[in-house]
Amino acid sequence: MLPQLLRLILYLPKGDKMIISEKKDGTMTKVENITSFLHREGLDCKNLVMGEQIHGKNIFVVEKEDMGSIIKDADGLVTKEKDLLVGVIVADCFPVSFQSENIFGIIHAGWRGVERGILEELTERVRILGEKTENLKFDVGPGIGVCHLEIKEDMLEKFERFSGFIEKRDNKFYLNLRKIIEKKIKEIGCKELSTSNICTFCNNDYYSFRRDKGDKRVIAINYSRNKI
Ligand SMILES: [Zn+2]
Repeated sequence: MLPQLLRLILYLPKGDKMIISEKKDGTMTKVENITSFLHREGLDCKNLVMGEQIHGKNIFVVEKEDMGSIIKDADGLVTKEKDLLVGVIVADCFPVSFQSENIFGIIHAGWRGVERGILEELTERVRILGEKTENLKFDVGPGIGVCHLEIKEDMLEKFERFSGFIEKRDNKFYLNLRKIIEKKIKEIGCKELSTSNICTFCNNDYYSFRRDKGDKRVIAINYSRNKI
């Protein structure tokens, strides 16, 4: 009874959502900014694992020995090591975190990775860890909204099969990438999904690649809520 009660107490306060930095925390392309942001959140930078982020579809299973490193070719990380922190840096792309009782992870989901099938990749990766996607709770963080994600010919072709998620305004086309991500998450069996309604272009608290044209990024972190 007592461990269960403790678990509930530890689990509830921070909820199921990822931790995400804002512009005021500085760009997370700088290690010192990551270190101080995590410190403020009561987390230790030494435990962080990140991916190289090449807009691909690779999700890697990471272990304790990966702490403090950057995993080559990875746009997604999943682990069952409770001490680990997994993170992605984003500006307009969507950070997608997920967790179950036993595992947790995070994905960098931009239009390229989503089109290449990074979310579908998750089913196999979590199976390796003895988990099913049906048991995962997802959180989709801030990202560029359909209000601002204008797409040109090349992308229109790639997203042809998602025509229901494309809006036409003033002879321009806009992609609702958030809704596509949500659809794909449901397709892999997810029953619990929370989602932010923040567009990073509209909301000046976050960096936006399309608005700012720079290399500045926020960081999204996921961690185990299940320490016992
Ligand atoms: Zn917007």
